[in-house]
Amino acid sequence: MASIKRSLKKLGKNTQAVALRTTDKHLRLAVTGLAGAGKTAFITGLVNQLLHSGVAEGNTQLPLWRVARDSRLYGVKRDLQPDLTIPSFNYEAAVHAITNEPSSWPQSTRNISELRLAIRYRPAKGLLSKLTESATLYLDIVDYPGEWLLDLPMLKQSFQQWSESQLERISIFKRSSYFSDFIDELNSIELTAVANEAKLQKITDSYQRLLLDCVEEHGFYYAQPGRLLLPGELDGTPVLALFPLINVSAEQFSILEKTESTSFYHTLKRRYGEYVSRVVKPFYHDYFAKFDRQLVLVDCFTPLNRGKEQFDDMKSALQAVMESFQFGQSSLLKRLFSPKIDKLLFAASKIDHVTRDQQGNVLSLLSQLVQQSQQHAKFEGCEVETMAISAIKSTTHGMVKQNGRDVEVVKGIDLDNREVVTLFPGEVPKSLPVADFWQQQGFDFVSFAPRNLTEKQGNKADFEHIRLDHVLQYLVGDKLK
Ligand code: GDP
Repeated sequence: MASIKRSLKKLGKNTQAVALRTTDKHLRLAVTGLAGAGKTAFITGLVNQLLHSGVAEGNTQLPLWRVARDSRLYGVKRDLQPDLTIPSFNYEAAVHAITNEPSSWPQSTRNISELRLAIRYRPAKGLLSKLTESATLYLDIVDYPGEWLLDLPMLKQSFQQWSESQLERISIFKRSSYFSDFIDELNSIELTAVANEAKLQKITDSYQRLLLDCVEEHGFYYAQPGRLLLPGELDGTPVLALFPLINVSAEQFSILEKTESTSFYHTLKRRYGEYVSRVVKPFYHDYFAKFDRQLVLVDCFTPLNRGKEQFDDMKSALQAVMESFQFGQSSLLKRLFSPKIDKLLFAASKIDHVTRDQQGNVLSLLSQLVQQSQQHAKFEGCEVETMAISAIKSTTHGMVKQNGRDVEVVKGIDLDNREVVTLFPGEVPKSLPVADFWQQQGFDFVSFAPRNLTEKQGNKADFEHIRLDHVLQYLVGDKLK
């Protein structure tokens, strides 16, 4: 210790300044999840808590985050984002929506976006603590739709294999009234004839309507290509004019291979290749490979509310999402993109929807969902954790007497009719639900209006949360020692 101090004294002023500059650290935290998982609400809630944290604020709202608990957190500020070509996360609009009267939830994630925070803290350990009283961790939070990860298998599939894999989803497609339109359109093309862009676009529009209807109206999750569901900046571009040939048999595929390169078939096959090389690969290469930490949000309640088929579909979509985090030495991802995510957190979101006695069940259900996929392949080189959280707690807990018994309830404002409701939303299964469960299930998860703290004291955060401090400790705690 004394010797370190002595050597530090020997360092000239300039050398110390250089050393200090290099002490600033950067961390890229990615947030994802399927549509409606709670990504926008999470980032809004987290940033709001962070901007109101620090010694001046009393460090009281994030007690499980060690740097705050130890009173080493000076404060958190917004900073200019590093990537000028990624849209900014619209934090101001999101807070405005929630704090406005009547309050509403901000617009959900439709594209990738980013925001940078500068976290100023006092280092407690290591050389840094000897050199300086204050260091900065730049935290880049990147939000992107989980649906984009559903395209990963396309990297390994040929156009024919991809079309065959989509045929396996036919029972789900058939639930939509748009299915027959799509099939009629498909049957109307002469695949051997010379392709034309307008026709390709027309059939793509019909396929897109089918996918959107399956997801938005029928409550399913899996949809490929993921960008047809959430196109981001590629909306309306020809690279998205793509659909699977689910009406073509294996024999017909080999006959079509022999057609002219200008045929509908070969044009579509090339489109598939271009989608993979110009959309799927660049996402992994330009963004994914640069993430340090990843949070995957999972809404367990909505699919439980919807039914068995939707829950099973969510399960397979989640497993497909998890494939992107299996970085074993032999994995395609590792070979192609060298990802560096070393901590992965799966968090069940919106936990304020259920009574406190059910929160443990939600966590154990999520753990089972994650473990099931871990059995297939390990998340090598990546630490994995599960939690149950709420970014913007919009209910309060209470007890009511029912038939002489005390029963836990949640109380909040119904988003639709703006009335105060007090209810027991139902029991959450501890493990993956079996057949019996679906026959008896009686869930009643209503959507609550977001609640902000009207009697805000001092410079405290605008919202309450459940375990955001635990999330922070897991995902960034080790960088703030
Ligand atoms: P995204 O599609 O992943 O960006 O999802 P959002 O963040 O837009 O969340 C979808 C919906 O989930 C919101 O409109 C809210 O109704 C609900 N929600 C998200 N987070 C919470 C939460 O912490 N508590 C409650 N009660 N509802 C939430």
